[in-house]
Amino acid sequence: MDDLSLMVDLHADGDRQGPGDDAVTRRAIALAGLPGRKKLAIADMGCGTGASTMVLARTLDAQIAAIDVVPEFLETLEDKAHREDLGEKITTHPLAMDALPFDDQSLDAIWSEGAIYNIGFENGARYWRRFLKADGILAVSEITWLTRTRPDALTDYWERLYPEIDTAAGKIAVLEANGYSPIGYFPLPSYCWLANYYRPLEAQFDAFLDRHDNSEAAQALVSEHREEIAFYERYADYFSYGFYIARRCGD
Ligand code: SAH
Repeated sequence: MDDLSLMVDLHADGDRQGPGDDAVTRRAIALAGLPGRKKLAIADMGCGTGASTMVLARTLDAQIAAIDVVPEFLETLEDKAHREDLGEKITTHPLAMDALPFDDQSLDAIWSEGAIYNIGFENGARYWRRFLKADGILAVSEITWLTRTRPDALTDYWERLYPEIDTAAGKIAVLEANGYSPIGYFPLPSYCWLANYYRPLEAQFDAFLDRHDNSEAAQALVSEHREEIAFYERYADYFSYGFYIARRCGD
């Protein structure tokens, strides 16, 4: 199995593929002013197995296009939607989020939790803007520095992994520079990482290693994740995902 297939296999049973929480999604939905509005058209970019997609579908009068490059994740989402009788509100699309077939100005909201980094925050915000109606909402979570200063080892780590990491002020400035008017920002609390993402992921490690006969590649992937978790636990005061809610503005 190649590295990508292993990664998919490790994550496909998870409720979420990154830090988050249903209550956090609902908070962002409230800040976005979407509750009570009728017949919304929404896209959830990099939806994974659909943690946020399901909250959007339960909470809103909306048609939701769930976009992800991994078809296995979308199948899990379809099962979940079917079980809760929400299948009519959700359509899945195995697409790359930087090559989308939507019409310009066709969406009331673009949602994306823990995924825009795959195409870069500024690139994504700029590309997606065209698909939003004039007053459409962008709601994304993105890796964010929680403090102005931090240990050098931490800066080095993230600069290597994702140099676009910045403070909330920096991220909001990027949104303002690209035709968005900020509505809200809040950082994700650490339980979104530990209780909701890392602990359930760790619980999968043994079965995953068994499934792959303890192959070297499977062990390497588990080690990488263990290191990532230890790193997070050590430096949780300094970074998290920030949720950014903004409205398209200007021409
Ligand atoms: N939003 C989900 C998943 C976050 S993990 C959650 O919060 O649980 C990031 C997701 O982005 C993964 O499901 C991955 O398959 C997807 N992804 C990565 N690159 C992508 C791309 N270029 N286009 C669409 N989806 C992508």
